[in-house]
Amino acid sequence: MSLSENLEKLSNAYGVTGREDEVRNLLIKLMKPYVDEVVVDKLENVIGIKKGKKSSPKVMLAAHMDEIGLMVKTITKEGFLQFVKMGGIDDRILLAQKVLVCTKKGALHGIIGSKPPHIQKEEERKKIVNYDELFIDIGAGSREDAEAKGVKIGDPVVFDVKYAKISDDVVIGKAFDDRVGCAIMLEILKILQQTDCTVYAVGTVQEEVGLRGATTSAFGIDPDVGIALDVTVAGDVPGVKEFESNMKMGKGPALTVADAGLITHPKILRLLLDVAEENKIAYQLETGLPGTTDAARISLTRQGVPSGTVSVATRYIHSPTGMLSLKDAENAAKLVAAAIQKIQKQF
Ligand SMILES: [Zn+2]
Repeated sequence: MSLSENLEKLSNAYGVTGREDEVRNLLIKLMKPYVDEVVVDKLENVIGIKKGKKSSPKVMLAAHMDEIGLMVKTITKEGFLQFVKMGGIDDRILLAQKVLVCTKKGALHGIIGSKPPHIQKEEERKKIVNYDELFIDIGAGSREDAEAKGVKIGDPVVFDVKYAKISDDVVIGKAFDDRVGCAIMLEILKILQQTDCTVYAVGTVQEEVGLRGATTSAFGIDPDVGIALDVTVAGDVPGVKEFESNMKMGKGPALTVADAGLITHPKILRLLLDVAEENKIAYQLETGLPGTTDAARISLTRQGVPSGTVSVATRYIHSPTGMLSLKDAENAAKLVAAAIQKIQKQF
């Protein structure tokens, strides 16, 4: 299956942080043909193991399975669902979104509502509506009705957005952060027929709330090298200054030099740069981003693990719909696969 086909499946799957089951099951199915063994650990990270030569370096790839979303906090007696945010979401993008409430009985359609503008006072119209003033309307008549439909406190809520290809290279969809990382990881496994290294392809849980799955899985694996596959902010839209973000969609995979949690190990950065030059893969160098990735935790595992991050510059991340270039994702996979082939014992 192509990267685009895998991304479509992964993007459309539901996996709000802490509730990654559907994505995990899909990822297990998709990675099985390319690995020798699949393990699910105690926090439910999924680890695909591709065995290399004995005593060769262990390479850990990490792509997080979770996505930002919401969680039902209270059900009003009129049947509206109030919620909390799971992961970093800008309140301004919530209003009027279509969502799916994932209940035990299945997904329920809903709309995020607020007081209609017609009856808002002048000052009310000017201010940002905070998430705690919003509610999800599932068309229920009462709390009992909502409960009868299957809603429970703690149910995850995802944005109701479907994957679409809008040009030969550009796609839009939900949860590209970080299902594109998962799709790149599958592509790497596909490219790597044989390798001296043992590769641990990890779909991590709970990245969006503090890189939790990466912390425990890296401890368990004890890798020699760590590479996170993730997205980064594409700044090539009106209103963003070059200094704020110089990453551009379609200009090649982004190699992190430093972010808020990681300074890419010089050996890893050198390796990625050399491989990019040798294989004539265009890339972008990024530094100074306030966020971080799973690589931050992998790098601090036990006595430390040389780590780096390869990202896809994605527009509108942490909003319901993102946009990215498939070529960037494909080239990220080529780059990391080629780098794995070059990793020698010194790591
Ligand atoms: Zn991410």
